[in-house]
Amino acid sequence: MKNGHWEKNLFQLIRRTSVDLPSDVEAVIRRALKKERKGSHAWWVLNAILENVALSRKNDTPICQDTGSLTFYFGVPVGFDTNAIVAHTRAAVAKATRQGYLRQNTIDSVSGASYDTNIGSASPVFIFQQQARKKVDVRLIMKGGGSENMGSQYSLPDVGIHADRDLEGVRRCILDAVWNAQGNGCAPGILGVCIGGDRATGYKHSKEQFLRRLADKSRVKALARLEEKIMKDVFKLGIGPMGLGGKTTLLGIKIDSLSRVPASYFVTISYMCWAFRRRGVLLGPEGGVHRWLY
Ligand code: SF4
Repeated sequence: MKNGHWEKNLFQLIRRTSVDLPSDVEAVIRRALKKERKGSHAWWVLNAILENVALSRKNDTPICQDTGSLTFYFGVPVGFDTNAIVAHTRAAVAKATRQGYLRQNTIDSVSGASYDTNIGSASPVFIFQQQARKKVDVRLIMKGGGSENMGSQYSLPDVGIHADRDLEGVRRCILDAVWNAQGNGCAPGILGVCIGGDRATGYKHSKEQFLRRLADKSRVKALARLEEKIMKDVFKLGIGPMGLGGKTTLLGIKIDSLSRVPASYFVTISYMCWAFRRRGVLLGPEGGVHRWLY
């Protein structure tokens, strides 16, 4: 695969993700602001967030100083050269770091040494799926460390929170996770939840829920009802933006399931902060932009 437009447009994807909050996320924050009492802590925090979002977009600067860990999701045609696109993506990440769209945010876990270009072991993360398609679908999620620290995994039954192996048990896990976070990880947040799977696939699939738009509802009716119920329940917790009190603790929740073995029942919850940086692009055979996503 010749370089063509690949590196240039992958760089643009990173830049857009870093500086420009997706419109569906911004719209939900605006709606939340209207529900908070004018002059309250929650109202001030949401206002500050929206001002920050506008300034980042205008000044072409990162939305948050923690530019997070980067996960690229690729949907590629059969026979596509994945090694080449990994190389182009790494080059684009290095360039985005040199130009300040990404902070030097990757360190060696043993020595503590910083990687100058954010290129390290499992940094960035690449997930590939071969699909019956002609174009390459690339999606990027940038996830801050504070929100990543708020993720949690439950193994049901859990007597501590009276959670059995059913959807009511799942609900209890989710509310427990939100309550324990107490607004840390920069609430209002978005939850990605996986019921089932194993410990590793549970986290992977819970994060994949962040690729869904905020308006999206689960196609499984029972899960769509659960998503709706959790939003109502969390509303009553009063944790609010940054944990300072208020109605807006979550901006959304996306739940899905994987099959499991009879002996295990995991509920895995990934937490995303308000700086929900998620963008995508469809690239043609030479790496040219067919369409920006989100
Ligand atoms: S949790 Fe999100 S908003 Fe908070 S510092 Fe990290 S990236 Fe920024």
